[in-house]
Amino acid sequence: CTDRKGTAKDEKIYVTVRLRPLSSKEIANDHYSIWECPDDETVACLYSRSDRSNFPQSYVFDQVFKAERTTQEVYERGARDVALSALTGKNATIFAYGQTSSGKTYTMKGITEYAADDIFNHIKQHDHHIFLLKFSAMEIYNEVLSDLLKPESGPLRIMDDRERGTVIEKLREEIVKDKNHLLRLLEVCEARRQTGETALNDISSRSHQIIRLTIESSPRAMAEGPVKSLIAVLNFVDLAGSERVSFTHSEGTTLKEGCYINRSLLTLSTVIRKLSDPNRSKAAHVPYRESKLTRILRNALGGNARTAIICTMSSSNKHLEQTRNTLFFASYAK
Ligand code: ADP
Ligand code: MG
Repeated sequence: CTDRKGTAKDEKIYVTVRLRPLSSKEIANDHYSIWECPDDETVACLYSRSDRSNFPQSYVFDQVFKAERTTQEVYERGARDVALSALTGKNATIFAYGQTSSGKTYTMKGITEYAADDIFNHIKQHDHHIFLLKFSAMEIYNEVLSDLLKPESGPLRIMDDRERGTVIEKLREEIVKDKNHLLRLLEVCEARRQTGETALNDISSRSHQIIRLTIESSPRAMAEGPVKSLIAVLNFVDLAGSERVSFTHSEGTTLKEGCYINRSLLTLSTVIRKLSDPNRSKAAHVPYRESKLTRILRNALGGNARTAIICTMSSSNKHLEQTRNTLFFASYAK
């Protein structure tokens, strides 16, 4: 498949970059934009090379969304195909990756809602099938996994089950009745995350949020003998701020001195890098087991699963270093 413009149809990890516009506060503080998008696949740095570092001036991805692009456009060109694949029985994961305040939560909120629209439209149009949609939501903070729908459960355990694969013990699953029900569940999770934020400053920049939809479908008429039902999970992942891991030095595993080590984010980067390495042998070790996040996502990453990563970046001159880190990660993932 050579024509990949504007879609996320093929099997490899689909990597896009979204620029966030400068906020009015940034403009008032004399920030200016140092990135331009000469076309829909390229982002280029306008910064004068006076800092004498030899980082690339421009980067090419599957799609680049300039600051004027709407979340709807980001969804349609960067995530829709991956989201829809869950309706055909393929596990799928959509990530937002980027430094704190680059637009991850803003982007994922919209992506989740647009995907929900598509899913409910699909269900309506396929009334010869019975669909069962289940919702669950988790947060990983300091390698502790908790249930956003039922925080009082305390830390959740992840189990490896021979038959069922990775299972999260006691995770609450709610059967979704309709779109409004889903929106209400999303609101509950959002509120829970915000409560955390006041209790412990900057928890959302250090935690990963996973919203999971499990989609089951089977044909209504079983007259032609037993037919297999389809089941797939679709994960929406709002990652911890990428400033927790630095890529500028050597192998991508070096952590900035004094920086809080986020094991899940670091392991995810390694897993993604391994999965997207075209020279990787099938037997090569992928260290899924080394973090909670990668254990949970294991069945929805690599293999037959579909993955989209939306890397969010600030346009500001003041965020150049972190933005460069994000672009390093995005280039590895490609
Ligand atoms: P993050 O989750 O990466 O820390 P947020 O999603 O919270 O960042 O975004 C930081 C701020 O920027 C929020 O006030 C958000 O509303 C705003 N913002 C982010 N992306 C955009 C965008 N594409 N257009 C307009 N405002 C945005
Ligand atoms: Mg956020």
